[in-house]
Amino acid sequence: MLAPLPTPATPRKPAADGGSSAPRSSREPSGTAAQGIIPRNLADVLEPRSLCYGVPAGPGWADCAFLTGPHGVARSLARVARAHPGASPEVAASYLANWYSAAVVAPAVASYVLLRRVPDLTPARMSLRVLDSGWFDRTALHRPVGTVLADALPAEGGDEHARPPGDGPDRVVGDLAALRGVLVDEVLAHLSPFVRELRARVRLGYPALWGAVAAQCARAFLLTERATGDPEAGRDEADAFFERAAPTMRARPRWHEFVHRGRPYIGMRCGSCCLAHRLGDEYCTTCPFTDDTERERRMRAWIDTQGHGGLAV
Ligand code: SF4
Repeated sequence: MLAPLPTPATPRKPAADGGSSAPRSSREPSGTAAQGIIPRNLADVLEPRSLCYGVPAGPGWADCAFLTGPHGVARSLARVARAHPGASPEVAASYLANWYSAAVVAPAVASYVLLRRVPDLTPARMSLRVLDSGWFDRTALHRPVGTVLADALPAEGGDEHARPPGDGPDRVVGDLAALRGVLVDEVLAHLSPFVRELRARVRLGYPALWGAVAAQCARAFLLTERATGDPEAGRDEADAFFERAAPTMRARPRWHEFVHRGRPYIGMRCGSCCLAHRLGDEYCTTCPFTDDTERERRMRAWIDTQGHGGLAV
């Protein structure tokens, strides 16, 4: 399949959402309780999405217990279909699977890699803000507690930014493998009912739906390079994550590594097609059906469109 235009990892944020999804201050208040400061490196990795603490109020917000249930999934699918005339139910479901899972896993993965902290992803304790297009631009953790690696706990009187203020105790684990296990369990527990609801409504199988989740997990790991400066760290963490997440996320992405303008990059070949090009004339940088040469050409072009600090994902 030929690509008329280079594109980012799939499916991307709708351009129509423009300014409303622009990067926000990490201190921007939006909740009604337990607001805290999002560490700068975490905020940088998540852009153009953003994260806040507390129970949010205002238009567009819904809690994840609703969004993962039958009424929430039906409403989200209808919104995506309305915003994208001509989208089949399967295309709408693929977009929703990618966008919803990204809004849930991106903060969790980035927090795990950068802070060695896994937030509580219980659906009733999280909310997302949805735009008219169906894209989710903000994630709220109602209670900034979770599971933390013992070594990552701040010393008494230490850096307040290293830990979000909480209203309850954190769970502490002693090693990274245990923390990774918590991350996998939290992600699968949150997203399983959501994927089941989608599966019951459209002709997409579990490999495709969990493949969308896996793609967003992999992308979240690779984007931590924005903070670490190390392209291999996110890749290695992702490999360990997928080892624990099998067999549910069987259709995980494979890595596509190359050097561009003298710098190493890591991109992805997704485990399943996201159906993104059916809604536009652009093709994916992560397409599993194109050959390596064409995929790499798309990724090089995508890197160049981003300017300094651009990544392959
Ligand atoms: S076949 Fe699927 S993954 Fe490949 S470009 Fe088209 S929509 Fe994207």
